[in-house]
Amino acid sequence: MSLFEHHEFDQHKEVVFCNDEKSGLKAIIAVHNTNLGPSLGGCRMFPYASSEEALTDVLRLSKGMTYKAAMANLKQGGGKAVIIGDPRSDKSKEMFEVLGEFVQKLGGDYITAEDSGISVSDLQITAQKTEYVSGIKAKFTYDGSPADGNPAPGTAYGVFVGLKASVQYGLNRDLQGVKVAIQGLGHVGYRLARHLHEAGAELFVTDIYPEQLEKAQQEFGATIVEPQDIFGLDVDVFAPCALGAIINATTLPQIKAKVIAGAANNQLANESFGQALRKQGILYAPDYVINAGGIIDIYHQTQDGTPAELKAHLDAIGDTLVEVYRRADEADEATNIIANTIAEERFGK
Ligand code: NAD
Repeated sequence: MSLFEHHEFDQHKEVVFCNDEKSGLKAIIAVHNTNLGPSLGGCRMFPYASSEEALTDVLRLSKGMTYKAAMANLKQGGGKAVIIGDPRSDKSKEMFEVLGEFVQKLGGDYITAEDSGISVSDLQITAQKTEYVSGIKAKFTYDGSPADGNPAPGTAYGVFVGLKASVQYGLNRDLQGVKVAIQGLGHVGYRLARHLHEAGAELFVTDIYPEQLEKAQQEFGATIVEPQDIFGLDVDVFAPCALGAIINATTLPQIKAKVIAGAANNQLANESFGQALRKQGILYAPDYVINAGGIIDIYHQTQDGTPAELKAHLDAIGDTLVEVYRRADEADEATNIIANTIAEERFGK
């Protein structure tokens, strides 16, 4: 297994292989870049088929965090940790203690947080061994509602702000009467639906489970559609809030919306779909720019900020997107490519 020659290696600053036979911990921590500040990124636990697969994931995800932090105007870099194992059966208290010792040895270059397979209670154990843990002690929220550490409200508000700015830029109108198709009414999608309803949008929603759909129908007057029908609706905005790779060769020809703005990670099946969207006259809000509300929230919790500062920072997601759109138009380039360029300018690649 090569590292410096690895196809996902991109001048990562540090890659640490963590092995502890006694606790069974097998993890990799990757610090991609710390030019703007200490690297921040969640710790993921997954039953990777091989250490090669885990390395690929951690190299790719840590790099993504550098770009996300830069576009979110955070004084932070990108990092990530992956634990090789099944989160349902392989966890132990000792494992998370040892992880904390490894994180501590990095001296603050990497700050860990929650990601898939890892819970707040796991990280509370890790935090007994290192001060470099975030997202476990939420003190406030952007809107004054009780803080429970869930990043979804911040993410949903950020997506709402970004969607509003995208509609203003692309369609030159506010949200009153705008038709929005939301794919996935989970933690983020449902909250986004509420914001949009309050702003006067008309909602079309889908999910693979009926409960939230029926709730959205009652609460927001949303129209329920089948999962396979969400792409081809005659709407203004498509908001993917479920799965990755949702803009692909099958879905693209169906899409009638002129704006795509949603929370899902890795929406484009590959980067070339950004240009394809542009050719089709669709304004695409780069996913990692519009869905940065969660990481912005976590950042403010660690900075002893205030709810007003947090809200202002979330509101700035709209300004960042407008900067991306303007430059994309000037350069006649895809918005995802321009977002990467701006991020690189900011972190000094
Ligand atoms: P979630 O699991 O709570 O919600 C996802 C919803 O999508 C679920 O209700 C699920 O039933 C539905 N779904 C799954 N497959 C579907 C399909 N084929 N068609 C329609 N609906 C389907 O997740 P979430 O926390 O709301 O996150 C949504 C997306 O946003 C994910 O891609 C996530 O990675 C991304 N994201 C979330 C956050 C956050 O703060 N939670 C932050 C950044 C990015």
